[in-house]
Amino acid sequence: MINNVTVFGSGVLGAQIAFQTAFRGFNVTLYDLADELLEKAREKFAVLGESYKRDLGATDADVASALARLTYTRDLARSVADADLTIEAIPENIQIKKDFYSALAQVAPAKTIFCTNSSTLLPSQFATETGRPERFLALHFANQIWVRNTAEIMGHPGTDPAVFDTVVAFAKAIGMVALPIHKEQPGYILNSLLVPFLRAAWELHHLGVADPETVDKTWMIATGAPVGPFAIMDVVGLTTIYNIVKLHADATDNAQDQNSAQALKEQFLDQGKLGALSGQGFYCY
Ligand code: NAD
Repeated sequence: MINNVTVFGSGVLGAQIAFQTAFRGFNVTLYDLADELLEKAREKFAVLGESYKRDLGATDADVASALARLTYTRDLARSVADADLTIEAIPENIQIKKDFYSALAQVAPAKTIFCTNSSTLLPSQFATETGRPERFLALHFANQIWVRNTAEIMGHPGTDPAVFDTVVAFAKAIGMVALPIHKEQPGYILNSLLVPFLRAAWELHHLGVADPETVDKTWMIATGAPVGPFAIMDVVGLTTIYNIVKLHADATDNAQDQNSAQALKEQFLDQGKLGALSGQGFYCY
């Protein structure tokens, strides 16, 4: 039975996960490294509360109850003293995660299930450090969790199937659409599909096959999708898109792929065209 949840990291995703979990009635402890960060988290919750009212029709009382279920600490042992389940949303860096889990393993009760929100690392890469590989797996959320409510759930070969099922049930209980993944896969489901798709779209433009509007129009009319790949890339942000294209170029070690990544950098990043938030990307905003 999951009642008490601890979220590690109060950054972009950690704050959203903590608020969503509290909003759905769980007791949530939020852990971060410094008091200033936890203070900033309170400010983020005020903004999130407004989003929940706007997007979900939440009342002031709903938001107040969620806030009342949240506690804050920078004491790791206290943060997990009675935790049934934890969700880690600390930086996407293998050594930081390994060090963190080695410390957590020393202080967490035996009952606690550990979940990681890592986007690109596999649970098996740091399962040993958790000290309880059978109670460890990935529970991966999307940004804007309250409306983009996917929860990709992915174990490693040593995850206990009963723990996996508990996390699927928990994801549903906090209002997510639970998406079980049966085998470790870099990029889970969404990014396994999306990354090659976006890269292919950029290539069509880079090679002069078609302009962004025509590519998006083709995709939208032919599949019924509300937006095309270039509109998606503008929302994701072109710095992230460049990182994806460059990572691929480095992996293939192919001059044409390097050229493609360089073109994206020169034509967009270097011109300050970083996507929708910057006012311009493939489209003007
Ligand atoms: P972020 O940089 O916004 O936040 C990270 C938080 O972790 C910060 O509050 C930081 O103070 C804290 N932190 C740093 N070192 C720590 C440590 N040793 N112990 C505890 N806390 C520590 O990062 P984010 O964007 O929220 O991403 C966090 C995780 O979630 C990453 O694994 C990322 O891949 C994943 N994720 C991010 C997104 C996204 O859209 N940002 C989406 C899905 C998954």
